[in-house]
Amino acid sequence: MCARCGSEHIRRNGTQGGQPKYQCKACGYQARFVPAALAKAAQYAQVEALLTERNSQRSIVRATGVARMTIARLIKKSGAGRAPAAASPDEKGPTPEAGSPGT
Ligand SMILES: [Zn+2]
Repeated sequence: MCARCGSEHIRRNGTQGGQPKYQCKACGYQARFVPAALAKAAQYAQVEALLTERNSQRSIVRATGVARMTIARLIKKSGAGRAPAAASPDEKGPTPEAGSPGT
């Protein structure tokens, strides 16, 4: 989607620095779209920030849209997984999350 006018009429317009460049046919706006990997990295950074604020995994899922398994992995990776023993690890089995829209 065009960042300037919101149009969906976007056409690939070559590459720059190995990254695809796109041009909006509606307004002529040209941009390099953020690769998915970069968008994910930004999301993960947000997750880690929320983790340092002692948010629950569930609330982080809601805030960032990152899968809980991914969050658990990030916790292990960052070494921030010193959760209080009261929190029960419920990664296994079905999670009864009501009202969550399908992915
Ligand atoms: Zn546009």
